[in-house]
Amino acid sequence: MSIISVSGLKKTFDGAVPVEALKGLDFAIEEGEFLAIMGPSGSGKSTLLHMLALLDDPTSGAIIVDGTDISRLSSSQKTSFRLNKLGYVFQEYALLPELNALENVYLPLMMLGATVKGYEKAAREMLETVGLGKRSNHLISQMSGGEQQRVAIARALVNKSKILFADEPCANLDTRNSEIVMRLLRQLCEEFKQTIIMVTHESEHRQHADRILWIKDGLLDREEKLR
Ligand code: ADP
Ligand code: MG
Repeated sequence: MSIISVSGLKKTFDGAVPVEALKGLDFAIEEGEFLAIMGPSGSGKSTLLHMLALLDDPTSGAIIVDGTDISRLSSSQKTSFRLNKLGYVFQEYALLPELNALENVYLPLMMLGATVKGYEKAAREMLETVGLGKRSNHLISQMSGGEQQRVAIARALVNKSKILFADEPCANLDTRNSEIVMRLLRQLCEEFKQTIIMVTHESEHRQHADRILWIKDGLLDREEKLR
């Protein structure tokens, strides 16, 4: 079953010179799929991810996420939908450097109204899963880039979000840390049956995905099935 389906999706950014970032896309994403979105810089990858992740509204076209036509949601319904079903590993959703790893990870659960005991336990377990069990009490500002990225993934996963969105999750990471993060995403996709949608421009990440959507100049160029 498709967890996301997109039809006739267009996005134009208004301005002195309007930018047609997405020019009409149609595709579906299956539940549990690990999808990579690839293509040249400026082709519309991040714009597409923002639309799918309910962070921006399309100019036209329809997006159905987990059975819901998202154009019908009010802004407070969207907020609750994001909090309950979606996880984000985005540069602009940075971790809070003045909090420790555990606090950063349990923040989404706290916002969902979980009990202190409940959210601390869940956050600890998730930090274990990403291999940072011993670093729960370390401040983000004292962690390496690779560790921070793993904390961001733990935070995105702690509420067992049905869908995880990642925009260039390995930007600023060295090869070794990139490999750790990619293997982790793959493992989580298999263990929790999460749907993962990741934008990347790094060709060595291809091997981890089930399928690649190649975007070119605001259009779907081709798709590549890998598994
Ligand atoms: P990619 O992620 O593939 O590098 P983007 O989706 O960020 O590409 O951008 C696609 C096009 O839309 C680019 O021409 C970019 O300059 C433009 N664009 C992106 N966001 C905005 C915005 N908020 N306002 C105006 N133009 C934008
Ligand atoms: Mg981008």
